[in-house]
Formats: sequence, C-alpha cells, structure tokens
Amino acid sequence: MQWHSTISDALVRQKIRKQEITLGGNAKLKIYGLLSCGSGKRMNRQNRVFFSTEEEAVAANYRPCGHCLKEQYKAWKANTSCFSRIY
Ligand SMILES: [Zn+2]
Repeated sequence: MQWHSTISDALVRQKIRKQEITLGGNAKLKIYGLLSCGSGKRMNRQNRVFFSTEEEAVAANYRPCGHCLKEQYKAWKANTSCFSRIY
C-alpha cells in the first residue's frame, strides 16, 4: 500500500505505467476502486492510497467500491451482511 501524500504525481504516473499501481483507495472510508473511478478522484489527497493488486487491498481490510467494482462489491456485501448498511 502506498500513500499518495508520500509520493509525487510524476512517480504515481510512472508506477501506473509499470503496473505497480492498479487500484486506488480511500484510507478514511477503507474503500478501494479503479483509478478511473469518479468518487476516487474527488477525495482528499491525504486520504488517497494506492495498491498494486486487489489482494493487497483486501489484505489491508479495504472493501470494493460500489460504483466501479460492482461485482466485487456484491460479493463483498454478501459476505458481510451485518455491515451492509455502513456505506
Ligand atoms: Zn469506484
């Protein structure tokens, strides 16, 4: 997991090109999603983190974004019904 506030935008772009970064996340809400996701772009830079793989995001206890990762979100929700109303 990589915090956006600790690396420059140029480095972020470089890592995306090398596919060291494939997913973004919101550290406050503990949600991960696609880099192209609109709700991801609106968040504060201080709250933004990056992941190289989905496994990494899940291991860090992040859950899938309901906008851009609908299938993963549904699967996640089915597994955590007791938390389903948090978001
Ligand atoms: Zn999203």
